[in-house]
Amino acid sequence: SERTLVLVKPDGVKRGLVGEVISRIERKGLTLAQLELRTVERSVAEEHYAEHKDKPFFGELVDFITSGPLVAIAVEGTRAISAFRQLAGGTDPVEKATPGTIRGDFALEVQYNLVHGSDSAESAERELKLWFPN
Ligand code: ATP
Repeated sequence: SERTLVLVKPDGVKRGLVGEVISRIERKGLTLAQLELRTVERSVAEEHYAEHKDKPFFGELVDFITSGPLVAIAVEGTRAISAFRQLAGGTDPVEKATPGTIRGDFALEVQYNLVHGSDSAESAERELKLWFPN
């Protein structure tokens, strides 16, 4: 069993899709180990997205992630990292995510793609320490 960090980003919270996302996680057979609704400081968002700091969309991405409350979840289960990536669908909700995935079913724009999920064991470890230090 492993753990992954899932975020329901501010667009997902504003649109009332927290229950939908949690329901899909649970129905897949994964479990919720920790969960918190919070609005993050820029420093946390910048550290979370450090790998994108030189991208042209970095400023906008940090503005968006800090724009309102989000839900951070430590999700646990067998192959939890790739299992959640499968539930989420590809980064681009139209070109990459397929119907049946969270992004494929509910999103249109890359920036407003509703959820984040750690993309590797290394990222999961780093991100879980950042979001759930205890
Ligand atoms: P996440 O890390 O949120 O799970 P991802 O791993 O699918 O997403 P990344 O390529 O790591 O995708 O990009 C991280 C996030 O940055 C995306 O989820 C999206 O919100 C935002 N993003 C990526 N590319 C763009 C872009 N071209 N314009 C605006 N925002 C973008």
